[in-house]
Amino acid sequence: MKIERHTVATITYELRMSDHTEDQVLVEIVTEEDPMLFLVGESGLPEKFEELLMGKQPGDTFAFSISPEDGYGEYDPEAKELFPLEAFRIDGKIDEDLLQIGTILPLTNDEGDMISARVEQVTDSGVLLDFNHPLAGKTMHFTGKVIHVRQATRAEIEHGHVHGPGGVIH
Ligand SMILES: [Zn+2]
Repeated sequence: MKIERHTVATITYELRMSDHTEDQVLVEIVTEEDPMLFLVGESGLPEKFEELLMGKQPGDTFAFSISPEDGYGEYDPEAKELFPLEAFRIDGKIDEDLLQIGTILPLTNDEGDMISARVEQVTDSGVLLDFNHPLAGKTMHFTGKVIHVRQATRAEIEHGHVHGPGGVIH
């Protein structure tokens, strides 16, 4: 069976990342002992990732790169905002743990969407938050292998996720 929409694919891979200044850095190894299963069309990964796996069968290997444009976007140096320290006061107290450099804060924007922001700088004048996706500006380099492909069940398609090993069990 080939990877196509509404199949469940099991893959292993190694993911390396690079940006404009760095060499490739190995960031993730997914092995056969604990492979990645995903419902094709609902992987949560960039569309391009699934597109490049379409038509592959068990035993097939793959190696491709996904540019920021096809991934999580270019890094936008303007996507930062300074918030007063007071904005982080909860019950009269500022939570120092939240304000560590590099901490990812889950926030809600004016439209009610979940967004995340990374704490970049904390000074007396406030907290500088970076709203870029953590992978913005990164090129992702995947090498891997297709282990198994099966038809998704109707419930999986309705729920938008994989049931069974490695997925949600109801
Ligand atoms: Zn479900």
